[in-house]
Amino acid sequence: MPWTERQRAMLGEMGIVVWAPTRVASGVAAAATAVDSTAASKTAARVGTETARSAPAAADRPLARRDDTRYAREGEVAALDWQALREHVAACRACRLCEGRTQTVFGVGNERAHCMIVGEAPGENEDRQGEPFVGAAGELLDRMLQSIGLTRTDAPPAQQVYIANTLKCRPPRNRNPEPDELALCSVYLRRQIELVQPRLLIAMGRFAVQSLLDSSDPIGRLRGRVHRFAERPVVVTYHPAYLLRNPADKARAWADLCLAAEQLHR
Ligand code: SF4
Repeated sequence: MPWTERQRAMLGEMGIVVWAPTRVASGVAAAATAVDSTAASKTAARVGTETARSAPAAADRPLARRDDTRYAREGEVAALDWQALREHVAACRACRLCEGRTQTVFGVGNERAHCMIVGEAPGENEDRQGEPFVGAAGELLDRMLQSIGLTRTDAPPAQQVYIANTLKCRPPRNRNPEPDELALCSVYLRRQIELVQPRLLIAMGRFAVQSLLDSSDPIGRLRGRVHRFAERPVVVTYHPAYLLRNPADKARAWADLCLAAEQLHR
């Protein structure tokens, strides 16, 4: 099915230029005019044919390995409703990241969303504003969502996503999260997923993937197929901040979004 003008515009904003059919004197040409790089054209050919292959069983894997202390803490958090969970996170001092934060970054969006986006850790802007995915990376995420008919702003659960990070506090100088920090904070993400009950999870970035799938494999090896977390499908893709630094991978991210849309509309 050809892409609509709106989808083309969105792809353009993501930096992806697609094949456009050309009209010739004898009628609609069979040929198409290539207006972009080989990578984008390969992706265009792949979109629509890429099938959702189930990944090897990752279902019901823990968000991270647990010890007994964490197990007890998870029991406590698992009983919290939205408001209590928000307050619990805002007051959390379970790991060293509490020391440098301006505020915790809990999550935003529709609490009954069909699609939940899982990011990594707050950066400087997120820490200041208290919202995940703001700034240039947030703008790119918005355009990526729009390209498959989703939004973070007010809309019914089928259109409005819920967005949460794996870590709720900013690591100092945006350093990578430590394994113990990811493990301690994952209990909150798990509870958010239980409360939202999304039909699909989209994991953006290495640490989101690490927490949800308990895998240290690179994104490039995990993307392009459907994984499972607690029986829910998980599509893996690049973090928008990474895509801003590596625009050549936007075509792959577009293919991942198409896979996500396919899962959502099943
Ligand atoms: S990063 Fe998570 S576990 Fe650590 S203090 Fe913040 S909310 Fe608590």
